[in-house]
Amino acid sequence: HANRTVGVDKNVWVEFTQLAADYKAVNLGQGFPDFSPPQFIQDAFCAALNGGPSMHQYTRAFGHPRLVKSLARFFSRTVGHEIDPLDDILVTVGAYQALFCAFQALIDDGDEVIIIEPFFDCYQPMALMAGGNAVYVPLRPKKGSAVLSSGDWVLSAEELTSKITPRTKAIVINTPNNPLGKVYQLEELQMIADLCVKHDLLCFSDEVYEWLTYDGAKHVKIASLPGMWERTVTIGSAGKTFSATGWKVGWAISSGNIIKHLKVVHQNSVYHCATAAQEAVACGFETEFELFGTPESYFHQLPAMLHHKRQKLASCLQSVGLQPIMPEGGYFMITDISSVKCDLNDESTKYESYDFRFVKWLTKEKGLATIPVSAFFSPEHSKEFDKYIRFCFVKENATLDAAENILKKWN
Ligand code: PMP
Ligand code: GLN
Repeated sequence: HANRTVGVDKNVWVEFTQLAADYKAVNLGQGFPDFSPPQFIQDAFCAALNGGPSMHQYTRAFGHPRLVKSLARFFSRTVGHEIDPLDDILVTVGAYQALFCAFQALIDDGDEVIIIEPFFDCYQPMALMAGGNAVYVPLRPKKGSAVLSSGDWVLSAEELTSKITPRTKAIVINTPNNPLGKVYQLEELQMIADLCVKHDLLCFSDEVYEWLTYDGAKHVKIASLPGMWERTVTIGSAGKTFSATGWKVGWAISSGNIIKHLKVVHQNSVYHCATAAQEAVACGFETEFELFGTPESYFHQLPAMLHHKRQKLASCLQSVGLQPIMPEGGYFMITDISSVKCDLNDESTKYESYDFRFVKWLTKEKGLATIPVSAFFSPEHSKEFDKYIRFCFVKENATLDAAENILKKWN
């Protein structure tokens, strides 16, 4: 085997998705909706499948023409920059492949990549597989006051600045954040942007949950800040946008001078993505362009629905004595489990971190699947954050009720 596969073999999704399936657990683990996408996008997919021979054949390598056009039109408005559909966008197999192309195309041997923790776990192996070194800066719970919201986790400008060296190539951010739910405020993004401009760094901005903000939190695109368009790769996901994670359509948007390098990785690996799924996503964005800002927009309806589900899960956790950290955005809620009494006597897991052991116990013994939060931290910091678990709330109310029954019965 090649060296690049060494040290990146463990994967929390592979492990815990299998465990949930093996124990037929109520699944608040992996982040995907257990309900259908909205009808209009399902109809668009069916129409694409019935749309004639071309819908079943190859399309343009870097993105189906109708999709790149609709993405360019939609995001030109939100990023405040005229996006060129052919030069500035690459359509990929989910946000995963957009991230992979960004790392492969822009990170060289020995480059340092600053990753803000907690982080969606794949950033680390992707940085390493590109030959880079990952450097971590944790968001930390504010000292001195109760930590009730994801907004109480803050980034220290001094700590971030201290990690920048002449080898630093990029800073990776994720807003709204998985797993914490933090939605970065304008001032925080401006601080990161100032450092990127000052030190001539790239920014990889993972915005797959961009529509999902609650209680007035506002998603800001770092690419929209002065000097950032030409150095930011913004990553999105149709799976998260339209509740269709199995379609695996994603994209990277940036200046053509950057996207041209991602295209090289794409054309020499995947080459192009499923045509009918791209056609359907294109229809979705065309519809949303017309409805944007109205109550009929799915980008309004989905967060409104999730706002209720977030409340429902939070009340359930509170009723059994678990204090959730209220997410300002995204699909997930984390909670401290250090006060939960449980008997972790499973010999097979005794060398694992506390949250990994706890989640395995909860899945096997109680039939409730969640995800351990230390999986979203570097080895250096995971010990400090091994008393939290992550719940996903993009689930049917019946699924959330089933989880509540489990929690209430044993507490
Ligand atoms: N980034 C984040 C923050 C995620 O949570 C996920 C999982 N949906 C991805 C990227 C990958 O998205 P996709 O399913 O579109 O590949
Ligand atoms: N993004 C989803 C999550 O965080 C799914 C990740 C995956 O399946 N690899 O749960």
